[in-house]
Amino acid sequence: MANSGADAHRLIIVGAGGCGMMAALVAAGKGVSLLLLEKTDGAGGSTAFSSRGIRAAGSRFQYALGIEDSPEQFARDIFGRNGNESDPALTKRLAEVSGPVADFLADVARIDFTVGEFVFGHSARRAHSWTEDKTITDFLFEAVERQPKIQTRFSTSVLSLQQEGDGTVIGVVTDSGPIQAAKVILASGGFGASQELVSQYIPSLVGVHFPGHYGSTGEGIKMGLSAGAAIENMASFQPYPAYVGPGMRSVSPEVIMSGGIMVDPQGKRFVDETRYPGGLSNGILQLPDKQAYEILDQRLYELLPHYLEEFLTSGLLHQAPTAGQLAGPLGIDAAGLEQTVEEYNKVAGVGADRFGRTPPEPFRAPFYGIKVKAALYHTQGGLKVNTDGQVLRADGSVIPNLYAGGGVATGVSGTGMEGYLPGNGQLASLGLGMLAAEHAAASLMA
Ligand SMILES: Cc1cc2nc3c(=O)[nH]c(=O)nc-3n(C[C@H](O)[C@H](O)[C@H](O)COP(=O)(O)OP(=O)(O)OC[C@H]3O[C@@H](n4cnc5c(N)ncnc54)[C@H](O)[C@@H]3O)c2cc1C
Repeated sequence: MANSGADAHRLIIVGAGGCGMMAALVAAGKGVSLLLLEKTDGAGGSTAFSSRGIRAAGSRFQYALGIEDSPEQFARDIFGRNGNESDPALTKRLAEVSGPVADFLADVARIDFTVGEFVFGHSARRAHSWTEDKTITDFLFEAVERQPKIQTRFSTSVLSLQQEGDGTVIGVVTDSGPIQAAKVILASGGFGASQELVSQYIPSLVGVHFPGHYGSTGEGIKMGLSAGAAIENMASFQPYPAYVGPGMRSVSPEVIMSGGIMVDPQGKRFVDETRYPGGLSNGILQLPDKQAYEILDQRLYELLPHYLEEFLTSGLLHQAPTAGQLAGPLGIDAAGLEQTVEEYNKVAGVGADRFGRTPPEPFRAPFYGIKVKAALYHTQGGLKVNTDGQVLRADGSVIPNLYAGGGVATGVSGTGMEGYLPGNGQLASLGLGMLAAEHAAASLMA
């Protein structure tokens, strides 16, 4: 238990991941005493696995660097990626709140943000990261522990919601009994760890590795459904195309986005790799064993030498003086790979290749290659919510006193895997956590 709370539970938050801890800090900051329930014995959830950065438009950190950006531009990037498939009002609201989320985290969770150069599918520099060797949930949990209005209870699983006859939520039922509350925020994450729900909603992913948190079993979504909520975009997910294997790290997207390629067992490219992560993952999921081979050269290796060296010394990344010689250790076709590199080098720096990609520079020896798989990082569909995170029924009416955010709610990644813009997961988690908590706190304090 982190802290002991002052009074009765006016607000219960289910799940101590990114969304739940953000919501707790925002609500407590507005004077609400609350109970944060977590089924495992620690805070973090899948958010702790996320890369060390969040996307935000309009933060004071961007401003200090003179970066030109706006929530409108951020929303346009999200719509551009998902083909206008996400809810327009929710998307715009999450883009608007992204800057305040970064500023709030800096003030309350004491994160000293820097804004990176690598835009990764965005039209402006908005990746806010930090240099300390901590996950975002380390910072969040430290802030939760400093906040006396938050009472945290670990190893407490929420099983269902308590409702009145008209559907109004009045509390939860946990594995140690019922607890009354004036408002409930479901922040219990997505369903990537539930084989049952994955096979029901995204059957093509059965057998695809999920390297997220084991607590992501979709219970919040199930509770919302039982309470009468509508669900949306349940086949939407965040894929990752360069996953190395259980217990291993993934290859950074920077390698591909800076010129790296992916080939199949014949040594042939199969997609414009810069359609990252969705288009590329989709291509890999069509290949035998849902795996591909990431190829890079000396220039790309030198971009991230400390990071890639680990793969080289562990024998996962192979190095060879020619593309043909690299094929053997990778177990792929040598002639095919040689021809692929030759074709790539012909158009590099000159024009577009047959996939429409413009390679930046020709490959130069030595060559490197590593076997990678497509993975499921996080599900993106869930309960339908409004711009305050209130959970909606199919007729658009609000289920009184019930909120959802993060993996429990529908995100802004459209309907499948290609609509995911990097950062969308944390945006729905931290952004909806803030919006739901602000709304719940305002009505509790009114
Ligand atoms: C490897 C990996 C890399 C990622 N990289 C990125 C990235 O770079 N950018 C990005 O935006 N997103 C990324 N994501 C996705 C992102 O992490 C998620 O979208 C986001 O963290 C979800 O946050 P959440 O708060 O909804 O859930 P979580 O952080 O998973 O928290 C949910 C918590 O609820 C608890 N819980 C579940 N059920 C119950 C219950 N019944 N009762 C009580 N507690 C319960 C869980 O144990 C968990 O602690 C990545 C995900 C993974 C796995």
